Amino acid sequence: MAKSAVSNLSERNSWGRYMKIIDISLPLNNNTPIYPENVPFTVSIHRAMPEYATQLSSITFGSHTGTHIDAPGHAIEGAFMIDKIPLQNFIGSCRVLDFSDSLKYLGEAVTEPLLKNKNIKRGERILLKTRNSLRGFKEFYDDYVYLDGDAADYLANLAVTLVGIDALSIKKRRGSDHRPHVSLLAKNIPIIEGLNLASVSEGEYELIVLPLNLTGMEGAPARAVLIEK
Ligand SMILES: [Zn+2]
Repeated sequence: MAKSAVSNLSERNSWGRYMKIIDISLPLNNNTPIYPENVPFTVSIHRAMPEYATQLSSITFGSHTGTHIDAPGHAIEGAFMIDKIPLQNFIGSCRVLDFSDSLKYLGEAVTEPLLKNKNIKRGERILLKTRNSLRGFKEFYDDYVYLDGDAADYLANLAVTLVGIDALSIKKRRGSDHRPHVSLLAKNIPIIEGLNLASVSEGEYELIVLPLNLTGMEGAPARAVLIEK
């Protein structure tokens, strides 16, 4: 006897039957906000395919477009590029820390004292939620909330597994303190930039973020999701 459509569906999805998946990556299209002087994201028709009522598309984008990973080689000479980072970094439990109440103004920094309040443990995956997510990502804004140098040193010394932030750069716009990139990447701690944490509350989740397997590149766009525990 034929099984019902419902049971077929649940069999196919048995792995994720009760999961709540939150997409925390930015959509990629011709309107995607881009960090100044980076490559615009453009989509165009490469070749029409009337036989399928569709097309082959051409896509151009920079390596640091939308939600993306900075590899250690982005800031450290001779360090791992995106395809050499062990995938264990990118899959597993993580903690979202919400600073959108403690930092009332855009343009402020997530600082070491703020992080110390959160009791971060060695090896954690840490995602930083700020007012950037509440403002949204319709365009690029100069006054985004960032991580300051001392806070980056603090996370690097804790040897966290990964750090993510809801800004297209983890470093202050036009800032001369490069530690937010250098301190973390020197310890082989990948950075996720361009997260959208608008619909995520502080707490523990399972993270899956997989950068495109771009050979020898210093960064790569990624799809990032959180799974509620
Ligand atoms: Zn980047």
